[in-house]
Amino acid sequence: MLVVCLDLEGVLVPEIWIAFAERTGIAAFRRTTRDEPDYDKLMRQRIALLREHGLKLPDIQRVIGAMQPLPGARDFLDDLRARYQVVILSDTFYEFADPLMRQLGRPTLLCHRLIADAEGRVVDYKLRQADQKRQAVLALKGLNFKVLAAGDSYNDTAMLGAADAGFFIHPPESIAAQFPQFAVTRSFPELTAALDAAAHRLQR
Ligand SMILES: [Mg+2]
Repeated sequence: MLVVCLDLEGVLVPEIWIAFAERTGIAAFRRTTRDEPDYDKLMRQRIALLREHGLKLPDIQRVIGAMQPLPGARDFLDDLRARYQVVILSDTFYEFADPLMRQLGRPTLLCHRLIADAEGRVVDYKLRQADQKRQAVLALKGLNFKVLAAGDSYNDTAMLGAADAGFFIHPPESIAAQFPQFAVTRSFPELTAALDAAAHRLQR
């Protein structure tokens, strides 16, 4: 009984806010937690920006609907799902991820919610829970699953640490250096091989 938990942005799909900034030409959407470490403040700024530019949920979904998963992501995921149960653990929002999840064959996704009013204006957001990636891994372990996890960045390290085996895929060098306990892979075939080896080890 084994579940593979994967990060979404930067692993299977582009960084959504950055792609959104590029598609809309509104550079302020590029701000991330690196620029504003207070996540709530950052989200309030993003919601204010959406309002300022008159961007409603259907507009956002149209923009994101023109995006595509990263090259090879669908094949990687299909191959993995043929052999393991896979759960995507992401800090994005269902309302953002939906057009991309459709292109990925709708794997199970645990993420957060945007709240829109009757006119489709984004007015708020709702986290599933604090530290949800780590909490999800712990919950799966509580159900007697062995958990493998892979992600690309700092917000995945709690998930990788909670899993029975955790891997980076093409992380920034600085983050890989800061967390040497997680093996680094740099392509889908490398990650697949690492996951298969860990699964073999854990299921013996
Ligand atoms: Mg990521």
